[in-house]
Amino acid sequence: MGMVMVKCPETGHAIPTGIQTDRESFGRRAVFFSRTRCPICRTDHAWFAREAWVDEPSIHMRRRNAG
Ligand SMILES: [Zn+2]
Repeated sequence: MGMVMVKCPETGHAIPTGIQTDRESFGRRAVFFSRTRCPICRTDHAWFAREAWVDEPSIHMRRRNAG
């Protein structure tokens, strides 16, 4: 299990969506659309699942920061 993360379009920071899932089931999920309250901008950002990723602790060390 990991936290679904999205990138804040204003600051480029990764922000947690509050949705927890595992990477496999997230990858199989049909495209969905959601909104997340951004703690940095203090506003809601709309995002698609294709823009999001699952931040799992087990893969965190291997994952490269794409910038
Ligand atoms: Zn933001």
